[in-house]
Amino acid sequence: KLRLIGKRAIITAAAQGIGRASALAMANEGAKVFATDVNAEALAGLAHENIETFVLDVRDADSVKDGVAKVNPDILFNCAGFVHHGTALDATDAEWDFAFDLNVRSMWRMMQAALPGMLERGGGSIVNMSSACSSIIGAPNRFIYGTTKAAVIGMTKSVAVDYITKGIRCNCICPGTVESPSLEERLHALGKQVGGYEEAKKQFVARQPMGRIATADEIAALVVYLASDESGFTTGQPHIIDGGWSG
Ligand code: NAD
Repeated sequence: KLRLIGKRAIITAAAQGIGRASALAMANEGAKVFATDVNAEALAGLAHENIETFVLDVRDADSVKDGVAKVNPDILFNCAGFVHHGTALDATDAEWDFAFDLNVRSMWRMMQAALPGMLERGGGSIVNMSSACSSIIGAPNRFIYGTTKAAVIGMTKSVAVDYITKGIRCNCICPGTVESPSLEERLHALGKQVGGYEEAKKQFVARQPMGRIATADEIAALVVYLASDESGFTTGQPHIIDGGWSG
């Protein structure tokens, strides 16, 4: 039996990477999926009978309000986020503000828009994208990123507690390194500092005790589980999926 039949799901940053894999995985489980992103061109490639796409910028309050109102979701997957490179000394105010808006505040915006409908129906599942690099583990040159992703864990716990008796669950996921277009960009950028793309990839793989990087599909499987009623007894938790990195 398909696990998400009858559910309406909205996903942010669904044009590529983990968001895209999760849109397809949820659609294959029977959900009506609304896959959103700022990148209309990349979204256009997401064809599936259960998927509708539209542009939603999580940094724009009106775009969030309109988009969520259109969907009235049972499932919200807040996937949008950006990785800044650098230490506490490298970080700038502008990078900090940008990252907190995109990685943290955007999730609050989306939840604020989606929660009233979930409360009315007496149920819902929210999945927020955190990272193993957060309050779980520190990673080199991830000062701003790790700080924002730790905030996502706190926000997730807070929302979980406030709506626990209303049938609404809120969890977050904490992946290690995952194959995605933006990871490729990071590997090419790091490659320039460490003597090439292959050396950069070796360094990322080395920190994963399993000796490899995750596929986006492996992360999507966890997202589907948390979105579905199968995970009905878990809320307020960071679900770590990091190939043993933090183990
Ligand atoms: P990605 O970084 O390759 O793609 C990100 C997507 O976000 C793009 O399609 C982009 O257009 C979209 N986006 C950017 N700004 C947006 C905005 N304002 N509104 C809506 N969409 C916007 O994908 P990924 O690497 O799978 O990362 C997705 C999420 O997973 C991020 O939150 C990231 O921090 C998190 N994550 C990734 C990894 C990894 O190794 N790839 C590990 C842990 C956590």
